[in-house]
Amino acid sequence: MRSVAIIGGGITGVTLANWLVERGHEVRLIERRGLGAGTTGKSIGCFISYLAVDDAYRPLVERTWDIYEPLVDDGSLDYHRNGFVKLATSNTYATQLTEEATAVDELEIPFEWLDPTDVDRFGVTEEAAIAGALYYPRIGRLDPGELVAQFADTARAGGADFILDTTVEEILLDGESIRGVKTSKGTIHADLVVNAAGPWAPMINDLVGVEVPLRHTLAPILTLETDTFLDLPTIMCEDGLYLTGERSKTVLAGHSPHESAVASVWEQATLEDPDRIDRVGRGAAGESFRIRVALEAEGIVPALADATVANEWCGLRCMTPDEFPVAGSTSVDGYLLATGMSGVGITVAPAVSEAVVSLIETGSLPRRCSQLTPERFAQR
Ligand SMILES: Cc1cc2nc3c(=O)[nH]c(=O)nc-3n(C[C@H](O)[C@H](O)[C@H](O)COP(=O)(O)OP(=O)(O)OC[C@H]3O[C@@H](n4cnc5c(N)ncnc54)[C@H](O)[C@@H]3O)c2cc1C
Repeated sequence: MRSVAIIGGGITGVTLANWLVERGHEVRLIERRGLGAGTTGKSIGCFISYLAVDDAYRPLVERTWDIYEPLVDDGSLDYHRNGFVKLATSNTYATQLTEEATAVDELEIPFEWLDPTDVDRFGVTEEAAIAGALYYPRIGRLDPGELVAQFADTARAGGADFILDTTVEEILLDGESIRGVKTSKGTIHADLVVNAAGPWAPMINDLVGVEVPLRHTLAPILTLETDTFLDLPTIMCEDGLYLTGERSKTVLAGHSPHESAVASVWEQATLEDPDRIDRVGRGAAGESFRIRVALEAEGIVPALADATVANEWCGLRCMTPDEFPVAGSTSVDGYLLATGMSGVGITVAPAVSEAVVSLIETGSLPRRCSQLTPERFAQR
């Protein structure tokens, strides 16, 4: 049995706590605010199953669904299958989507290819100059708050100690090895420390002098109130703007960076101070995003013409250069990583944290997850 201090109470930290107590380890999870208060609570909770077309992602996506599915089936987790539509406005992207359709077909992920005239069934105007659309009818949204509560409850029942409203300020070493952490409320001794701090992970790495390439992309959201009930699927536009219905008169409008001809997502990413960006309430999403949504959303879904902004927030995605999570041991003995979820942590974090448990118990990541290792960056 090992004593493990987990830094961060998002989806990564709570699932890790859960798997560790199941295996008889002693767990203390330290969260500076409340559980899910970081990126996880700001997410729209889509389970992005088509990520499985990527060979590296496939085992993580499939394993995570194996974990969620029984909980969805027995009603412990809500899963709103509102569908996911990718809209192409350029012929180049339309071609890319047809290639994706071929790949998901091989994996037997249900999809439909939509012609420009088919998109009006989702409230999308034909005037939006659609070159083609790929529709995933079975993709839906989980409730991130419910997800965190589910895994936190079982971890607590298994003996995990959740230390909330407490900030890790220092990582304590005994020579080259981990001794524990110093928090705002005292010292916690542990054999192992896991950095599951999402966008704050670079700051935690700095505490111990570990260098891993991590950057941020901004994830703003506006809550739009409409006059009518609009149960929209998640509609992802080619330029990264997305809309998703809330089973009410509310629609969320967000943005996700796309690979562009000029720069990869990593090149577009920056290193931010998460405490400045990660906010809820007026002004959090930024004025330029507000203007963009006002201009674009109505042009895609005309029913949003009279929508008003009821709330807004901004989260940060923690990115790696290859847009793949990073998990494993580091140059500091006993200091482990479970971070860099690159905008898809709801879809993969439970499998990533499970791989970390395997590392703790066997000394290596499972072979199917070997690409998670931080060493891959040293080899570049
Ligand atoms: C707007 C938005 C939409 C998204 N939509 C999707 C989606 O549809 N599907 C999908 O798969 N993914 C989505 N994501 C990505 C997903 O939400 C993240 O990948 C995931 O939540 C990351 O979880 P995490 O536990 O690694 O980090 P977090 O949830 O950020 O947890 C890290 C925690 O560490 C805590 N912490 C930081 N520093 C300290 C410290 N010093 N001491 C103690 N605690 C500390 C923070 O308070 C925080 O709670 C979205 C993200 C955003 C922002």
